[in-house]
Amino acid sequence: MPILENIFESICARILPTSCIVCESFQASSICPDCKNVLATQSLLNYECCYQCGISLQEHEVPKQRCQDCENKPPYFDETHCLDRYEGRLQNALHQFKYQKRLAFAHGLASAWNENASEALKNTQAHYLLPVPLSQEKLCARGFNQSWEIARRIRCNPSIKKLPYAIMRHHTMLSQANETRTSRKAAIQGVFYIPNEYQSILINQTAIVFDDVMTSGATLNEIAYVLKDNGVSRVINWVLLRTRRPS
Ligand SMILES: [Zn+2]
Ligand SMILES: [Zn+2]
Repeated sequence: MPILENIFESICARILPTSCIVCESFQASSICPDCKNVLATQSLLNYECCYQCGISLQEHEVPKQRCQDCENKPPYFDETHCLDRYEGRLQNALHQFKYQKRLAFAHGLASAWNENASEALKNTQAHYLLPVPLSQEKLCARGFNQSWEIARRIRCNPSIKKLPYAIMRHHTMLSQANETRTSRKAAIQGVFYIPNEYQSILINQTAIVFDDVMTSGATLNEIAYVLKDNGVSRVINWVLLRTRRPS
C-alpha cells in the first residue's frame, strides 16, 4: 500500500468512528477481529476449489483439482481464485457498496482481500490486472465501477500493472440478474472489446481479470475469449465472491 494511504488510514482509524462492514459492530477498523477471524478460517480460500473456475470441488473431483464442467468444456480462462462464497459474510457489504453506493465499503472489501487472498496469491506471475468493465451508460448511472474500486485498492506484486480501461464494454439493455444461464451467455457475446491503444501491449502477456461476483462464469469466459483473441497468452480470474454451483 502506498505510504500516504497507509498514513491516512491510521489517522482515520484514530479520529473517525467506524463500524465493521460485516457485522456493523462499532470499532476502529473496517472489519472487526471476530469477522476477520471467520473470514480467515471459513472463506472459500480454505476449501478445495477447481483451479480453472474456482467452484468448490465435490469429493470425486478433488484428485484432478478441476470440476466436471471444466473437464467437459474447458473455459477460455486458465485459473480462478475467489475470496469467498457469495452466500457468505461479505454479501451484505458488497450490496451496500454496489447498490447503496457506500463507496467507503470498497476499502473494507479490499482489506478483506488483502488480509486473506493477497498472501496466497503473492507469487502470481502476471503483467496486467484488468477490472471487468461497466458500459458507459451503467457507469454513469452507478457513478463508479465496483470491480475497479476494489481492484485498485488490492495489494499485488508491484510489477503487475493495473489498467482500468484495457477492456471496454458495449451497453446492453438486459440486466443479468433476470436472465437464465443460457440467455445470459447469449447476451454477453460481442459485448467486450479491447481499445486500439491496448491491443499491442497485451500480446503474449498474462492478464488477471478482477470481478466482484462470479455467477455462471459467462462474463469472465467472454472476456477471456476476447483477451486471447487479442493475443493474451494466459488469463487468471481474481474474484471477490463466487456463487454456488447451479443445481
Ligand atoms: Zn464484524
Ligand atoms: Zn471448474
